[in-house]
Amino acid sequence: MTTGEIMTLLSVRGFRFTHSLGQNFLVDDEALETIVRGADVENKNVLEIGAGAGCLTNVLCREAKRVLTIEIDDKLIPVLETVLSPYKNVKLVEGDALQLDLKRLTEDYFEGEPFCVVANLPYYITTPILETLLGSHLPLQSMTVMLQKEAAQRVQAQPGGKEYSPLAVHLRYRCTAEKILTATPDCFQPQPHVESVVIRFAMKEELPPVPEDGFVKLVKASFLMRRKTLLNNLLGYGLSREMAEHVITACGLPATVRAEALSLDDFVNLYQNILDVR
Ligand code: SAM
Repeated sequence: MTTGEIMTLLSVRGFRFTHSLGQNFLVDDEALETIVRGADVENKNVLEIGAGAGCLTNVLCREAKRVLTIEIDDKLIPVLETVLSPYKNVKLVEGDALQLDLKRLTEDYFEGEPFCVVANLPYYITTPILETLLGSHLPLQSMTVMLQKEAAQRVQAQPGGKEYSPLAVHLRYRCTAEKILTATPDCFQPQPHVESVVIRFAMKEELPPVPEDGFVKLVKASFLMRRKTLLNNLLGYGLSREMAEHVITACGLPATVRAEALSLDDFVNLYQNILDVR
């Protein structure tokens, strides 16, 4: 089916878009092809979050080995079943990607093989989905995600800014990032008010030399009360004042530093020093 035919099918069925589910469907064929090419999924397993009417799924199925796609809106399921009926390499799951057991679903369908994530993400689940994917020890190869420009700036924020966050640090710990596309509102139906950006996060083969779960816990604790100093947040994390002062000095950081000033290397260094004194 062509993208035009898919959208005609939607309107014939009287489908009404739900704004709160972030239903802006990507209908620009060139953008769809650019995303799938940039995602580098040829003959690989793909988990898609938010199938919509299947415009992106359709292109993914032609390129990938297997596609597991999740959609929360039950009104889209019959449309998706029609659109995806020519393909034998796709499994459609109805449900909330934030509630489903992604580990079990992907292990079953991909038979334990690694997989890539490709998703045109609704704004309201961008942060929780990325946190879930990073935190769930899945065998990820890459995550190619379409984000509203503002969300893209947040997840790629640099140290020193207000938008810098534990998620931005965690993404740097696990991935390298590359922008694949900027999509203007006219690429979508209905048109959103803002531009979107597609970023491919490739999982690093070699991670920084500290254990991930403990590292993420420290980063979250360091940001817990943003207006407080790192020293104060480290007291909440369970260090004595003496230990907290010691590790901050050992990292060459000023005593009054705040978490938002620390780079990935600073956080890795801080955690190494904490592991040494504990
Ligand atoms: N992939 C399609 C495309 O590119 O045209 C649709 C993208 S649209 C921006 C996001 C889709 O995610 C919508 O179809 C929406 O219903 C679905 N969605 C929203 N929240 C979801 C959730 N928690 N779990 C699964 N799907 C969700």
